[in-house]
Amino acid sequence: MIIKSFRAQNFRNIENCYLEFDKRVNLLLGENAQGKTNAVEGIYLFARGKSFRRGDERDLVRFGAEGFNVSIEYEDKNGTNTLEYAVYGRERRRKKNGYKITKASEMIGSFKAVLFCPDDLTLVKGGPEERRDFINVAISQCYPSYISVYSDYKKALENRNAILKAASKGFYFDEGEILAWSESLAEYASHINVRRKEYIKKLEVYAKRFMSEISEGKENLSLLYKSDVENELSEREEIKEKYKKILTENLMKEKLAGVTLYGPHREDILIEINGKDARTFSSQGQQRSIVLSLKMAEGEVSRELFCEYPVFLFDDVLSELDERRQNFVLDGMHDRQIIITSCERLRTAGQVIEVKGGRFI
Ligand code: ATP
Ligand code: MG
Repeated sequence: MIIKSFRAQNFRNIENCYLEFDKRVNLLLGENAQGKTNAVEGIYLFARGKSFRRGDERDLVRFGAEGFNVSIEYEDKNGTNTLEYAVYGRERRRKKNGYKITKASEMIGSFKAVLFCPDDLTLVKGGPEERRDFINVAISQCYPSYISVYSDYKKALENRNAILKAASKGFYFDEGEILAWSESLAEYASHINVRRKEYIKKLEVYAKRFMSEISEGKENLSLLYKSDVENELSEREEIKEKYKKILTENLMKEKLAGVTLYGPHREDILIEINGKDARTFSSQGQQRSIVLSLKMAEGEVSRELFCEYPVFLFDDVLSELDERRQNFVLDGMHDRQIIITSCERLRTAGQVIEVKGGRFI
C-alpha cells in the first residue's frame, strides 16, 4: 500500500498543504514545532479513525479557523482510493472514494499504516493499558469487526460497573441484571480473547525474527497474552464459560470494589527477553529494539493477511536509534513505503520535504 498524496486545510498549524510522496522513503525535515508530527497525525487519522494524540478533536482545528479538512490518496492492490475527513463545528464529513461514510469506525481498515512515535518507547515499561492499546489499534486495522465487538464490550462493562458501583455504596441493585451483564460481557470477552491471542501469536513469529536480527542472534523475544482465563484454551465457547465463571465466583469481591475486576480491559501482554520479563529487566536499548521489532512485525502481519505492506510512519524515532538500528530500518525497508520525520538530515535515498511553519517545501 502506498500513500500518494496528503492534502490538509486548517489542520493544526497547517493552513493549506498538498504533499506528494515517493513510493519508498520520505523524510519530513524541519526544526522543532514546524508541523512534522501534525502531518503524520493527519495521515494516521485515516488508519486509526481518530488522532493518536490525546485531546479533543477540536484541538485539530487551526487556531482561529472554523474547521479542518484532510484527505489522502492511496494505492492498494485494488487501485487508487481517496479518503476525506472534515470537521466544521458539530458537523463531521467522512468520505471514501467520494461516497459518504457515517461512522469513524467504517474508515478503519481501508488505509493501513503502522505508526512508531516517541510515546511508543514506553510500550515495554509502561502499564498494561499501553500494550492493550497497541494491539487494539493493530487488530482493528486488520479485522474491523473487532471494533464493534470491543465497543459492545465497553458498553456492557460500563453498565455492569454502574450497578456494581451502586452495590458498593449500599444502594439497591438487581442481582438478575448483573448476571445478564456478566453473560454479555463473557460473550464479548471471549471474542476479544480469541482475536488477541491469535494476533499475538502471529506477531510473535515476526517480532522474534526482527529482534534476533537486530541483536545479531543474542536476544530471544517472546510474547504471551496474559489472560484472566487459562491461556491454552482454543475453543471460544470454553473461554466464554471461563469468563462467566470468574465473574460469578468473584461477584462479592467486585461488589465491594464497585467495579469489574476481570476481563480483557484488565489483561496484558507479557514481553520476555531470553525468558525474563522485559518490563523489569530490559535496558533502554533493548526496549527500543523490542518496540522497533513489534512495529516492523505489525507490518508483516498486515502483509500476511492482505498481501501488501501498510505504510510506515516513523515520527521522530529514527534519530533516537543508534546507527546500526537506523541502518537496519533504512536498508531493510526495500519494498515498503516509509515516511520519517526528523530534525536532522538522515542518510536516506528518498525524497526530502522541508517543513517550516506549517509549510512543506
Ligand atoms: P518536533 O520536532 O518538536 O516534534 P514538529 O515539527 O513535529 O516538532 P508539531 O507537533 O507538528 O511539530 O507542531 C507544530 C506546531 O503546531 C506547534 O508549535 C503547535 O503549537 C502547533 N499547533 C498545534 N495545534 C495547533 C492548532 N490547532 N492550531 C495552530 N497551531 C497548532
Ligand atoms: Mg514532532
